[in-house]
Amino acid sequence: MPSFEEARGIILAHVKPLGEETVPLMDALGRVTSRDIAAPWDLPQFDNSAMDGFAVRVADCVSVPTTLAVTGFLPAGGDQAPRVEPGCAIRIMTGAPIPAGCSAVVPIEETEEAGDQVVIRHKVLPRQHIRIKGADVAAGTQILAAGTRIRPSEIGMLAAMGQALVPVHRKVRVAILSTGDELIELGESPVAGRVINSNALSLAAAVREAGAEPVLVGIARDDSKSHREKMLEGLACDALVTSAGVSAGDRDLVREVMAELGAKEQFWKVGMKPGGPTAFATVEGKPVFSLPGNPVSTMVTFELLVKPALLKMMGNQKVVRPFTKGILAEDVHKKAGKVHFIRVTVKKRHDRYVAYCAGDQHTAILSTMTRCDALAALPSEATFIAAGSEVDLVLLRDVDLIAEDEPKPSGRSDLSD
Ligand code: AMP
Ligand code: MG
Repeated sequence: MPSFEEARGIILAHVKPLGEETVPLMDALGRVTSRDIAAPWDLPQFDNSAMDGFAVRVADCVSVPTTLAVTGFLPAGGDQAPRVEPGCAIRIMTGAPIPAGCSAVVPIEETEEAGDQVVIRHKVLPRQHIRIKGADVAAGTQILAAGTRIRPSEIGMLAAMGQALVPVHRKVRVAILSTGDELIELGESPVAGRVINSNALSLAAAVREAGAEPVLVGIARDDSKSHREKMLEGLACDALVTSAGVSAGDRDLVREVMAELGAKEQFWKVGMKPGGPTAFATVEGKPVFSLPGNPVSTMVTFELLVKPALLKMMGNQKVVRPFTKGILAEDVHKKAGKVHFIRVTVKKRHDRYVAYCAGDQHTAILSTMTRCDALAALPSEATFIAAGSEVDLVLLRDVDLIAEDEPKPSGRSDLSD
């Protein structure tokens, strides 16, 4: 049985980035470039003023103070090209092109105006407050390497470079298939013995959050025919995620039917809890993640095992988040043999994360999942972890954010409240 890390390693070894497509820049946020992108032109495209002030000739400003005649006005976007003649200055606004003859800009704050004259009170250095053509980026140089995740800053750069379309790796289309005779869809009236197919919705949300596209294929009933039909439908996507039916129960058909469909199982069972019965297979190179059905197991295994694979398939080069260190606030007992990911709330004390048990840890308990801020990874061989021990955390929420009216996290050192 692979450990959690080994299982993730096996999965990552079996997936690779999908092909590319071109998307409008407005839709490129969070996508990953599939090629190197070079600058088609210089940035800035022309010498321009970095300040509101006066375009001058440095040679006219050798003695301080000096008085110059103001002979023109150049706003940003101005298309006239007045010349700065000897003994003269042109009033210039930030972003306006530097006029001929000008060798420096003097900020308004360093001048005094008197009628149509300006007094320069400070020493003027050549090229001061002039943004030189190409100083930011020279034409032809690489602006983004292939494999770059696009943030607002990359969007700004691409826009400034006139790139209305961007080559990116394709989004993974992830089929989500639930299994079980007891399931009904959201919106159907709940009757005794039936359970709403909440896994499909939580998985779809998690897929979206990872930047991929969920495709809901519905519910396979607990018979081989229904499993086969739904799985074939799911295999039309780039990846298939199933939930439930993967343990050792009489009606657990997922692995059996996957095998009939030609799936190569890479592992079944992982040394982690939740997530013990997780299976991973490939069908003609396509990844199939068979997650356990208890709602918390489904979400935790998605986060820890499926998400890194989706990120890799979408071209991300960095897909594994190392654990964050925290301090356990209370004693915890566990069985040896598997790493336990327990749901914890997290507070910041003395710049350290302190983790408190979030409640009942059964994998069917959704309320502990909604309450928690993180998963604490308790080592496989440990049976007792004492309060105050350092633990590995997987943060599921931004626990560093504070409310407007909240005092900054205190420096108190006790862990008890
Ligand atoms: P199974 O692995 O099929 O034995 O399912 C384990 C548990 O998860 C059972 O209590 C199921 O009712 C529950 N479960 C399975 N699939 C879903 C689902 N799609 N949404 C919510 N609960 C589910
Ligand atoms: Mg079932």
